[in-house]
Amino acid sequence: MHTLPIGEGFFILNCEEKFIRNSYLLTMYSLKFQLFFAVIISSIGGCAAMLLFDRSPVLASAVLLFSIGASFTVLYLFVYRPLKKVQSVITAQKDKASLHRATADSSQEMQEISDSINSMLDSFRADIAQMKKLEQVRSEFLGNVSHELRTPIFSTQGLIETLLHGAVDDKKVNRDFLQKALNNTERLNSLLSELIDISRIQSGEMKLRFRFFDLVPFLETTVAEMQTTAEQRNVSLALAGNTGVHIEVYGDKERLRQVMDNLIENALKYSEPNDKVVVKFSDQKDKVELCVEDTGIGIAPQHLGRIFERFYRVDKDRSRDVGGTGLGLAIVKHIVEAHHSTIRVESEIGVGTKFSFFMMKTSIG
Ligand code: ADP
Repeated sequence: MHTLPIGEGFFILNCEEKFIRNSYLLTMYSLKFQLFFAVIISSIGGCAAMLLFDRSPVLASAVLLFSIGASFTVLYLFVYRPLKKVQSVITAQKDKASLHRATADSSQEMQEISDSINSMLDSFRADIAQMKKLEQVRSEFLGNVSHELRTPIFSTQGLIETLLHGAVDDKKVNRDFLQKALNNTERLNSLLSELIDISRIQSGEMKLRFRFFDLVPFLETTVAEMQTTAEQRNVSLALAGNTGVHIEVYGDKERLRQVMDNLIENALKYSEPNDKVVVKFSDQKDKVELCVEDTGIGIAPQHLGRIFERFYRVDKDRSRDVGGTGLGLAIVKHIVEAHHSTIRVESEIGVGTKFSFFMMKTSIG
């Protein structure tokens, strides 16, 4: 006795064409033995009837009828009935008729078919579970997006309304309110660009353009362009290491620039005045390790595993205050992984944080 699972899936229905065709092919292939057996019985019966015909036509007819009956019985029991069961299982699957498991008792070969169908359906089940999970992730993502968009929009709306209701003439607050409204629009802008990046990464539209480039000038420019932000925050920013060397790395320069900008910006954002941020590189045989290290606020161990998730923030208010979107590290992770590398983080509260990853010096096969 074998059991055939009947699925829960609307999703299955769209793959059913191939599935049903394969099941039938498999079934037909396995049935050859039963068909062969039925043909042998009727042939033996036919031969015996021919031999007996001269002596007793009645007995010959009885033998012939018996052999035909026996082969039909074999076909019915071992071919037609199991096939019908398999068909009913597949049809129930197709009509989304039930969630229970159907049964099919049969010969060894039919059991093998049942096993094959069981394993096919099990893999469909795994696919369904995965799709349900993706659906949940998608709806959570949409919820987060609308929340993130709503916050700066409502805040700007409130500021403009207050200005219109008279605050525009109050010299003590008018500039401050306008500055806040401007900050909100900037936040909306960076949120939208990061959302576009995330969606392009997920849809596979973000194509990387790999090439060799000189690492040190790349890091020097990146650090130099961040100096103004560092000064505004009163945090020191420097590139450490022997900058006189020539190191050719292989990757998408623009996207790696985005990674470094993000890590340095975070290091500056989550540091206090007079803290230090250092960008380091260490040349190793066929790769280079890049690090962004800060002496900032640090991250508690329980958050370390989650900071690369979309919209995850350790301290929501602080992140928003410094213009964070919660998407930066998710994008960093995707880009670094697309370079066949892994982003790592080490941190201690009150001591600082270090993000690091490797870059290849040779092309990736
Ligand atoms: P955000 O836009 O909020 O900065 P990220 O995805 O870049 O989002 O980072 C996720 C969270 O990780 C941040 O909200 C912050 O809490 C934490 N984080 C990232 N980098 C650092 C750092 N260098 N020091 C301390 N905390 C950090």
